[in-house]
Amino acid sequence: MPRSKTALINSLQFGRFSYGDDHPFQLLRYQLARELMDAFGLLALPGMEIRDCAPVSDQQVLSYHDPDYIGRLKEFSSSQYPRADFRYGLGDADCPVFQGVYECAALGAGATFEAVRLVVEEGFDCAFNLAGGWHHAHRAKAAGFSYLNDAVIAINWLVQRGKRVVYLDIDAHHGDGVQEGFYDTDQVLTISLHESGIYFFPGTGFENEIGVGKGKGYSVNLPLLAHTDDALYMKAFDEVAYPLIAAYDPDIIITQVGADTFRTDPLTRLEITTHSYRYIMRKLKALKLPWVALGGGGYDLMNTSRAWSIVWSVMNGVELPHQFPESFVKRIKPLGYPNRGLWDAMHWSQEYDRNLALDAVEASIQRIRTTIFPVIITH
Ligand SMILES: [Zn+2]
Repeated sequence: MPRSKTALINSLQFGRFSYGDDHPFQLLRYQLARELMDAFGLLALPGMEIRDCAPVSDQQVLSYHDPDYIGRLKEFSSSQYPRADFRYGLGDADCPVFQGVYECAALGAGATFEAVRLVVEEGFDCAFNLAGGWHHAHRAKAAGFSYLNDAVIAINWLVQRGKRVVYLDIDAHHGDGVQEGFYDTDQVLTISLHESGIYFFPGTGFENEIGVGKGKGYSVNLPLLAHTDDALYMKAFDEVAYPLIAAYDPDIIITQVGADTFRTDPLTRLEITTHSYRYIMRKLKALKLPWVALGGGGYDLMNTSRAWSIVWSVMNGVELPHQFPESFVKRIKPLGYPNRGLWDAMHWSQEYDRNLALDAVEASIQRIRTTIFPVIITH
C-alpha cells in the first residue's frame, strides 16, 4: 500500500495562552499529547510533515459568526481588565475572558482551516489539528469553552468550493454548534455520538433533531446513556455512523475526536476506552477518504495524550506498543499522572447500568433507521 501523506498542525504555539489554572480546559494537553507522540517516534515518520498556521481571517470568521458578537469578543480580548457580557456567553466560568482570548481562538480556527486546506489543495491524505474541535461555539454566543467554531468556519470554505462533507463528532458532548451551522443543508452530513443531553451539557442532540428543509435527514444524533461502554459504543458506530458515512460518500470527512468519552474523564459518565477509540479510528482510515481530525474535549490529560497519539498513529499506519517510552514515564511522574500504558482492555460496565444503556442504544438505532436511513441510504 502506498504510504500516506500526513500533516500535523503545530500546536505548541498555543502554550502562551491560559483559561486560568483552575479551569478544566488546560492547554498543557496539547504539549503532553505531542510529547507522547514524540516519545513513540511519531513526529519523525516518513510521509509526515509538521505545519505551522496563521490565525483565521476576519472574512472567514464572519462566514458563520455574528459581527456584533465578534466585535465584543475582540474588544474584551484586548482589555486589561476582566470583562463579561452574558448575552454573548462571555465571562462566565466556562468561557472566561482573558487577554488574547480572540487571538487564541483565531489561531485554533486557523489551524483547522490549514488542516483542511492541506488535504484539499496540497494532496495530503490526512491532517490533524489537536487544538481544534470547538464544537459548542454558536453564531452569536460562546459556550462550553468554545469561542469560534473552527469546524463550521472550515466547512463553510469547503461548501463554497462545492465539496460534500461528513462531520463526525465522537466527543462526549453533543456537537451542537456544528449541527446549527448546517441544519438546513444536504451538502454537509453531521453525525454526533454523545452522552444524552437529558441531564448533561449542552442539553441537545436528541434523535428527533434531524435537520430542516433541504437539510432534513442530514443531521444525525445518537444520544447515549451514562455507562455506555466499549461494546455498545462500537455497536452505535457500526450500525449508524459507518453505514451513513459510506452511503453519503463525501469528498472529505472531518472528525471531532474528543477523548472525554473515556471512563476516567472527570466531567462525563460514558465508559469508553482506547479499545473502541482505536477501533473507530481504524474504520475511518479504512474508508480511504480525505480525512481531517480535530482534537476536542478530554479532561484527563493522559487520556487526550493517549487518544490523540492513537489517531495520529492510525493516520500514519503505525502500530504502537502498550508500554509508554521511558522518557515519557519520567516526564509524567512528577506531574502525578499514572503510567497506565497505551492500550486498555475492552471494558464492560456494571450489568444493571449496561442493560439500560443497551436498551437505549437499540431504541435510538431503530429510530434513526426509520427517520434518516431512507433519506441517506438509497438503493
Ligand atoms: Zn466534550
